[in-house]
Amino acid sequence: MARKHTKSKIIQLILHLSAFSICYLAGINWYSFFIFILMYYIKVLGISIAHHRYFSHRSFKTSRFFQCFLALWGGLANQRGALWWAARHRHHHRTSDTPEDWHSPQNYSFFYSHIGWLLDDKARATDYDEVKDFKNFRELIFINEKTWIPFTLDIFLVLLFSYILKLSISDSQIYFLQMIAWGTLAANIFAAHTILLVNSISHIYGTKDFESKDESRNNWWLLPFLLGENWHNNHHAFPNLAGAGLLKYQFDISFYIILIFEKLGLVWDVKKPSLFKNKIESKKLNFSNGNRGN
Ligand SMILES: [Zn+2]
Ligand SMILES: [Zn+2]
Repeated sequence: MARKHTKSKIIQLILHLSAFSICYLAGINWYSFFIFILMYYIKVLGISIAHHRYFSHRSFKTSRFFQCFLALWGGLANQRGALWWAARHRHHHRTSDTPEDWHSPQNYSFFYSHIGWLLDDKARATDYDEVKDFKNFRELIFINEKTWIPFTLDIFLVLLFSYILKLSISDSQIYFLQMIAWGTLAANIFAAHTILLVNSISHIYGTKDFESKDESRNNWWLLPFLLGENWHNNHHAFPNLAGAGLLKYQFDISFYIILIFEKLGLVWDVKKPSLFKNKIESKKLNFSNGNRGN
């Protein structure tokens, strides 16, 4: 079912061209490249650990204070609030690759399933019915509604890191506006696209290592960009686990960081894959016929 979505395409084109123009005019040097990489990984890990594994799937427990920290951390990627993200994502798991799934490449065009759906009117509001388990946390609803809070924090962090860098190496080549262009604008756009590849590419191409009711796939080559979220077929097979790397050499950096948080006493009751060995084994697909998806 291909859709044209011309309005979405024009708006996205204008947004992207504006961001590229600003970054081009700002120029780039090693410092702005460093802040781009640093902020990119902070954003990707925030989406993965906070918005995805905690708010969407409750794959570990934590305190009210650290939960608030997670909402702000995930918000740094500027992909709307934690509750909006979790509500959308829970709906995706429930309807995955059916006509009800808002961003299935099995039912919509690649453009629409990748980014076009974000500009649909229906995608604007948070469906609080999907996240009833968080309804008593007023601070979460506040952060979710006031998207300027994490956005301001994002700019503040870039300025803080730039200031620390400038103090440490006292180099006059560190320009704050250039750092903001690359640390916020460019890092946000790159993080948005790599994370959105999980909805688009990872429901078309890759390997299927475990039984799941949808077309989700694992893509090892996305590991350097997604740090564990690339094991999307594993995740669809076992959505509530805190770790998605279930086979040998399927590294999952997000999960290792959750384990560090557990060691520090910040999170607990982590749903580790090692606790569900038999269940995982029972869904493992047999590749003796050489068929691992496409
Ligand atoms: Zn999916
Ligand atoms: Zn998920």
